[in-house]
Amino acid sequence: MGFTVRNETLCGLDDLLVQADIAMYAAKEAGRGRWVEYSPLLGEISHRRLSIEHGLRNAIDNDEICLHWQPKVDLQTWQVTGAEALLRWRHPDLGEISPMEFIPIAEQCGIIDKLGVWALTEACRAGTHELAGLTIAVNVSASQLQFGDYLNGLKDVLRTSGMTPEKLELELTESVLIEDADKAVTILNAIRSTGVRLALDDFGTGYSSLSYLRRFPFDTLKIDRSFVTELLTKPDARAIVKMITDLANELGKRTVCEGVETLEQLQIVCAANCHEVQGFLISPPCPLESFPRTLDPDLNPRLSA
Ligand code: C2E
Ligand code: MG
Ligand code: MG
Repeated sequence: MGFTVRNETLCGLDDLLVQADIAMYAAKEAGRGRWVEYSPLLGEISHRRLSIEHGLRNAIDNDEICLHWQPKVDLQTWQVTGAEALLRWRHPDLGEISPMEFIPIAEQCGIIDKLGVWALTEACRAGTHELAGLTIAVNVSASQLQFGDYLNGLKDVLRTSGMTPEKLELELTESVLIEDADKAVTILNAIRSTGVRLALDDFGTGYSSLSYLRRFPFDTLKIDRSFVTELLTKPDARAIVKMITDLANELGKRTVCEGVETLEQLQIVCAANCHEVQGFLISPPCPLESFPRTLDPDLNPRLSA
């Protein structure tokens, strides 16, 4: 690992040390045996990352974090049956920051546990009030399950909120299964035994293995948006969606298609016997106040096909 800093801008020694630090961390992040040269762009990226990390530490206390909700729609009944909670953060200087950017940083610096408890607590509160009756989905990072005592925290939130465990679904990506599969089986079985349901998010990407489906107690497979996006242009995407829904049906699991944006995509996933859909076509994630309870009947693929 190495790093270089050229003092072309003739900055002071303090600045030079900061720049050396930035290049060194970038080299470390890039992996073993890498050289990284400091550049103003690297400085900007690193500065933004530090601002995010710093801001995240107080974001909950400063009331900058909230949840948005995206409906899940049952394709048999054309009813909203569930709602997925998605974190939103408005940084006082940087503005709206995507969870795709801040969640990985929160995971790396250990803030994800606090954020995760906040999201679960607020989701269960909404699930017993404004969204009562719907299945509430909450995303959980692999690192939340690896350290600390996730199970007892979950039981506490269920008890204090009065949330029906069967109405709560935790969405996990397969990264949770890769790190330490034996440990993951134990904790997922323990969570499942509380009655809380488990969904495998972004299914079909990464290293998805069919053996996961036998070994881990998932109730639901969420078919990744990348397949849905290509449904009309790539025959193999259509075949994969059909194959996943057929397999899930045989195994007694539910399927949710993520990222449905057009009527044509909706019709294809409906014909593939997928159980539920989510996507901008029906509604983007939105604040509780604008969460849709009724759906446009003209979009119903069983009527418009
Ligand atoms: P995810 O759980 O797979 O959530 C789906 C993402 O796709 C959301 O992005 C949603 O806004 C977006 N999406 C939904 N429908 C459509 C569509 O039709 N088209 C397009 N282009 N996008 C669509 P978002 O809200 O930016 O969240 C990104 C990821 O951040 C989530 O992916 C999840 O992995 C993570 N995340 C969000 N909230 C939490 C949280 O509370 N805890 C954890 N651990 N991760 C979270
Ligand atoms: Mg999700
Ligand atoms: Mg997903």
